Amino acid sequence: MRIIFLGPPGAGKGTQAKLIVKDYHIRQLSTGDLLREHRKLGTELGSKAQTYMDAGNLVPDSVILGMVGEEFNKPDLAPGYILDGFPRTCPQAEGLDQLLQNTNQKLDHVLVLEVPDSELIRRLTARRSCPECGHIYNLIFNPPKTAGICDHDGIELIHRSDDTEATVLNRLKVYQELTKPLVNHYEPQGLVRHIDGTGGVAEIYQRILNAVK
Ligand code: AMP
Repeated sequence: MRIIFLGPPGAGKGTQAKLIVKDYHIRQLSTGDLLREHRKLGTELGSKAQTYMDAGNLVPDSVILGMVGEEFNKPDLAPGYILDGFPRTCPQAEGLDQLLQNTNQKLDHVLVLEVPDSELIRRLTARRSCPECGHIYNLIFNPPKTAGICDHDGIELIHRSDDTEATVLNRLKVYQELTKPLVNHYEPQGLVRHIDGTGGVAEIYQRILNAVK
């Protein structure tokens, strides 16, 4: 199964993608995670991306398409994948169309997680994540058992530098202007499924399962 996950930052794409990965044994390909990995490793790509990410702006399409193109050559994408945070612009969607055509692949679903802006701001500013295992917590509705510490590996949780209120507002604006129009790109192919992204994690996941069945 090949899925694109669209939705504003904080809609829960990462959390839901991890559940899909577990049930369907396909890979989550998150461009945000890949970029953060590059930053952690101190690669040239990582330092190029840093200023854009910290301001909540998009990393240039050419950088993203190069990075995703490399991932498409890896065998672990063969059973299927869920694209999380990619594509984010029309040129990226066109680049993906090309990659799919070159590799003879077709998408199955484009899931659009819908959450009101006020809820997104509340979620993002309270979000904490584990830099080691990637588990995502929320201080309001899904806190770790011990404050500031990952339940799974005891590592100190971090507040992403782009989850501050000013950056979050910019990321939401960028989503509305550049990413939301992608729904129109995929609508004619009959792939788009709108999912209500409010409520509990399990409840939202059930809506996703109903949509992909
Ligand atoms: P995310 O973890 O998906 O919210 O991404 C965090 C940040 O990484 C974004 O605010 C962008 O600066 C950058 N980023 C991630 N994916 C992309 C993409 N497909 N195109 C451009 N920038 C991206």
